[in-house]
Amino acid sequence: MLRVNNIEVVYSKMILALKGVSLEVPEGKIVALLGSNGAGKSTTLKSISGLLAGEDGLITDGTIEFKGKKITGMAPDAIVKNGIFQCIEGRRVFKDLTVEENLMAGAYTRKDRKNIKGDIENIYEYFPKLKALQSRKAGFLSGGEQQMLAIGRGIMAKPKLLLLDEPSLGIAPLLVEEIFKNIKKINQEEGMSILVVEQNAAVALSIADYGYIMEGGRVVMEGAVENLLANEEIREHYLGIG
Ligand code: ATP
Repeated sequence: MLRVNNIEVVYSKMILALKGVSLEVPEGKIVALLGSNGAGKSTTLKSISGLLAGEDGLITDGTIEFKGKKITGMAPDAIVKNGIFQCIEGRRVFKDLTVEENLMAGAYTRKDRKNIKGDIENIYEYFPKLKALQSRKAGFLSGGEQQMLAIGRGIMAKPKLLLLDEPSLGIAPLLVEEIFKNIKKINQEEGMSILVVEQNAAVALSIADYGYIMEGGRVVMEGAVENLLANEEIREHYLGIG
């Protein structure tokens, strides 16, 4: 469904951040993009969602195709309309809007307005905590609650492909487990494909079908999750269970 072909990305006309990255996300699957700090994971996601331009980044080579259509370098709103939505790292929710208003804002590009109420109820089922907080201004939520809201907002956009950037960042381990369990549930129940960037390899691989490992702007390893989990090097370097 998503095919990234050998992309090269340069920031500020001089920093070569991606040196030929290729990856695929098949329909209905969860794919994890792993690797250490500065490996190029976020840059890869931003290349797909079109958010690169806002950071003075440019795709200088390669192509990105979504459902057979070339989307390389398209504007972010056009990419959303094509069915790709990115939940941004740092949990950027609208702090002055309530939880419910944030969820409604996620649906802004949708034409099926009458289904929105029902979909919000659906999100409250995934994340009951959000229901209890529905009238609270998002700026008063904890980090974990904001992360759930950011994911909920992404689901409200009803994308075909959801891009998640470090959903575990700064969140207590128990809550991380809950969030990832819900990501899996959303994938299964809504049939949404998911590409998730994570430094926490263990938790990402616990829900993913396939994984890519990046280092220094390149994919250095890839495989079905069961193969990655069986790989000595990965167990040692990324999972700490060598
Ligand atoms: P992290 O987990 O730390 O976010 P990452 O794997 O997501 O790491 P990227 O954020 O994609 O890595 O960064 C890849 C490289 O590009 C790094 O060397 C980084 O310093 C550089 N880079 C990222 N964003 C910019 C930017 N806006 N301007 C210049 N260089 C950047």
